[in-house]
Amino acid sequence: MNWHVADDPEEFRAFLGEWLKEHAPKALWNTVSTPFQGHWGGTKTPFPSDDHAAWYRTCLPLGLTAPAWPKRYGGAELSIAHARVWSRALQDRELPLPLVGFGLVMIGPILLAEGSEALKDEHLPKIVRGDIRWCQGYSEPDAGSDLANLRTRAERDGDDFIVNGQKIWTSHAERADWIFCLVRTSTEGRKQAGITFLLIDMTSPGITVRPIELISGASPFCEVFFEDVRVPASNVVGAENRGWGVAKALLQHERTVVGESIAAGGARPPELNDYTLRTHALEQIGRGDDGRLADHGIRDAIIQSEMDMAVMKLAVRQANEKLEKGQHPGTVSSVLKLAGTELNQRRWELAGQIGGLDAAGWDGDAFSARDKALSRHMLRSRGNTIEGGTSEVQKNIVAGAVLKLPKGS
Ligand SMILES: Cc1cc2nc3c(=O)[nH]c(=O)nc-3n(C[C@H](O)[C@H](O)[C@H](O)COP(=O)(O)OP(=O)(O)OC[C@H]3O[C@@H](n4cnc5c(N)ncnc54)[C@H](O)[C@@H]3O)c2cc1C
Repeated sequence: MNWHVADDPEEFRAFLGEWLKEHAPKALWNTVSTPFQGHWGGTKTPFPSDDHAAWYRTCLPLGLTAPAWPKRYGGAELSIAHARVWSRALQDRELPLPLVGFGLVMIGPILLAEGSEALKDEHLPKIVRGDIRWCQGYSEPDAGSDLANLRTRAERDGDDFIVNGQKIWTSHAERADWIFCLVRTSTEGRKQAGITFLLIDMTSPGITVRPIELISGASPFCEVFFEDVRVPASNVVGAENRGWGVAKALLQHERTVVGESIAAGGARPPELNDYTLRTHALEQIGRGDDGRLADHGIRDAIIQSEMDMAVMKLAVRQANEKLEKGQHPGTVSSVLKLAGTELNQRRWELAGQIGGLDAAGWDGDAFSARDKALSRHMLRSRGNTIEGGTSEVQKNIVAGAVLKLPKGS
């Protein structure tokens, strides 16, 4: 069956149903469909499986790793409506995107909207192909929620900047090829006014990456140190000292994608692919005389969770329908992020409550692989409400920018 994009999105939807049956590897059906789980690309991250590699190779020549991006960069140049049909088709079947990562959903949209032609030509094709993997250099030891407090300095030296300072909590910096970074280029005026958005090659001399080992034994975060790192001034996105607006626009994309990802079922380990609260509860608690789940408190909580999820899906769909090509999502991103991550956290806490002691399993043979995955995933869901700006920060944004409440109310 040859690839074909019908003008009518409904016709395209019907075509995709058949096309996916023929071309998407069977082992990937009913797994996940989020922008943060799948093949991340880059020079240091192998394909998660041969099926992921085959799926990527099928989609790449058709531009489907970046369906709405211009063909000149390797995208499929689909209309927004057609691109939505494509992503919904994958989500409905829980098929992974052919390529995932910060390049496609965070720095890519920013370069498309704000990047110089030279930066677009250099980076967008590599993002579409997944040649390079990106990480995000925003947070610093004294700049998290108060991001504008950042101190990593970039001083002009001819056509270059010389960068000195430190980033922290940089997710998977050890696997990244490039970092998009906020640096201080001026201390004049408001804190926000002296920030520049800079792209830095991670192989530049003077960069040291140190993984941070967590209590779980995993090291998904790093510290990144910059010591006299020379970066071409042409790597600035936007203009010098005007990076704050670019940084906020990128966060809007990040927050929207986090909300969308949760509405699509959320990233999760393979052990939880078939997981549902209902079957777990029936298995742990059993049915009462009336044939329903015996614990009515848990029953109510499951129903509430399913209703919240249905509302979340609708909210994401509605927000998406309003978004035009090339636009930044705006403050609705904070609503989606706040609602989605809090909901996700409640959902996995409920899973832990249903599992009881079994869901406290961490290691060893006494617990099933699913229960161990569940306890780890439940704890990871707490990170959702912190990364990309905490829930409190989202509430402040919603209070000010959406509800227009006066400061301090
Ligand atoms: C899983 C994960 C991945 C991450 N990945 C990255 C990454 O790749 N790159 C990167 O740059 N950073 C990353 N971070 C860091 C993240 O952006 C910061 O942790 C976050 O912005 C909070 O900053 P902080 O940790 O310094 O906490 P703080 O800012 O010190 O906040 C501490 C507490 O105070 C509250 N608080 C602070 N200010 C206010 C206020 N004005 N009003 C109300 N409450 C307030 C916060 O909500 C929080 O509960 C990641 C974090 C996590 C958990």
